[in-house]
Amino acid sequence: MQQEEAVEQMLEQGGIPISQLCNSRVNIDLLQCPICFNILWKPIACGQDRCFSSFCQFCIESWLNQKNAQSTLEEEEGTFANENNCPKCKRVFIKTEIPLVKVLLSQIELKCVHQDCIQVIPYEEYENHIINCKEKKKQCRGCQQYILQNKLEEHETECSQIPVECQKCHKIMPKIELEFKHDKYNCIDNLFKIQDQKLENLYNQYLICDDIINYYEEKIGRMINGDLIVLNEYNFFTIFNANYQFTNDNLYIARLVRNSYNYNKQKNDFLHFYVDYHFTTGLEGYEWRTRLIRLRGNLLIGVCSSQLSNSVDFIVNRLGEVKKKEENDNRYHIIRKVNFTFGEGDVIRFQILPFMQCLRITNETRHLTFCFNRNELQEMGDQYFSFFSLEYQGDALQFL
Ligand SMILES: [Zn+2]
Ligand SMILES: [Zn+2]
Ligand SMILES: [Zn+2]
Ligand SMILES: [Zn+2]
Ligand SMILES: [Zn+2]
Repeated sequence: MQQEEAVEQMLEQGGIPISQLCNSRVNIDLLQCPICFNILWKPIACGQDRCFSSFCQFCIESWLNQKNAQSTLEEEEGTFANENNCPKCKRVFIKTEIPLVKVLLSQIELKCVHQDCIQVIPYEEYENHIINCKEKKKQCRGCQQYILQNKLEEHETECSQIPVECQKCHKIMPKIELEFKHDKYNCIDNLFKIQDQKLENLYNQYLICDDIINYYEEKIGRMINGDLIVLNEYNFFTIFNANYQFTNDNLYIARLVRNSYNYNKQKNDFLHFYVDYHFTTGLEGYEWRTRLIRLRGNLLIGVCSSQLSNSVDFIVNRLGEVKKKEENDNRYHIIRKVNFTFGEGDVIRFQILPFMQCLRITNETRHLTFCFNRNELQEMGDQYFSFFSLEYQGDALQFL
């Protein structure tokens, strides 16, 4: 920064350096700021009896602010300091003005800060002169040289380094470059770069849109295809899938999100989802292991011959009751009871072994084994479904 600018800034902050003083008729000791040691600028005095010290407005204000900040700090630490003290007499600073100081200041004459200016300036006109002095220089936006401010406009119209914009490619460059170096090839090159950037932005936006479209396509696909959800290699066929939430996080894989209400039965009812379906021809053994993550109500495990919800043929509930629906009777009858129950955190194995005696359940290591004989299977038609069913909202299970 040039010295001139530094001095201008000094006027906004502290006082005028003593080096700028022209006449020595005045006793300068009275007109010196005790904080910055320069000639007082916009003076303010301490109004305490026998003090009357004068300071530059900027100097005393910064001093008091600093003191305030310090005393808040000390207060926080539990010690109390006298804030707002005069730096001279140490008593509370009472702001006042002393006319004599102003009279004395008005008698001094100062040198201009701008080089080449030979004017002697009365104190009261100093600020005005500094700003408007004919010798004041400003920096050229192009070549960075300091030029007399009243010549600057003229200089900048001629300066070869002044920044200008190409009207075709809108690149900003020094005037000399635009006139002698920037040919149509440079221009086209810049235009390409701009278009490239635009294309890249568009492409990024396209990728984001594509992701969103894929997500919704998949979601809509699921809705159109009914209830088939392929997840972690299991096929889930749900009847009232709105009530179930399938997730692929590790906590749970299926969770009942709200209670279901059966309007025919006029009460809350179980809803279930099919884990898989099997054809009686070519039947092989199936096995699942599941952990009961949350279980307030019943877990039903069952087998049914139809995909429709009301025709469940066998069920096992959390009490270990094995129920079978009798022919021509809509009610389930307990046909067996096992001596264990299902509880939260349990891992149970659910196994279908075909061509054996129907629905064998063992309690060893909490395995449930569903077995069917050939006749039983024929009664069930050519396909059957195995299912899990949860009763209460929030109940969840995880397939292992
Ligand atoms: Zn000062
Ligand atoms: Zn004082
Ligand atoms: Zn001047
Ligand atoms: Zn210039
Ligand atoms: Zn251009």
